[in-house]
Amino acid sequence: MSHYCDSLLVTCEDFRLHQRKDGRNYLLDFIKQLKMDCDIITRAGGIKDLIHYNKKEFRDSLERDIMVSLNLHNSHTIILLNHEDCGAYSNFSFSSREEELQQHYNDLKEAKKILSSQYPNKKIELYFAELLPNTKDEFIIKKIN
Ligand SMILES: [Zn+2]
Repeated sequence: MSHYCDSLLVTCEDFRLHQRKDGRNYLLDFIKQLKMDCDIITRAGGIKDLIHYNKKEFRDSLERDIMVSLNLHNSHTIILLNHEDCGAYSNFSFSSREEELQQHYNDLKEAKKILSSQYPNKKIELYFAELLPNTKDEFIIKKIN
């Protein structure tokens, strides 16, 4: 049996974003602000495997999870959320914070392009979780245009 769900959220598996033992849950707070139910796909690097995949199977696997969610729940919106200080992006060896953020913004936009062509009738929204100054695990989630 399938049920309708408002949206599909693709984000990173990093524990700092969700379900922490200290009670903080940035994903939960984010979803409440959206006022939408969300299927959630957690992957190392969020949407990274759509663009920078070492093996085609990685990309296929992410695309498969997205397809299953949309087929089952027919969500009208796809939300893509990457975050700062992502371990899955450590191979980029960014020389500055600006460079790191720009890479994520570019990747999010590229992922939107890819998914738009596959799912032309879906609304796709981009978000990025920035670290608060002088913290390693406190985030603010901002919308990317
Ligand atoms: Zn991450």
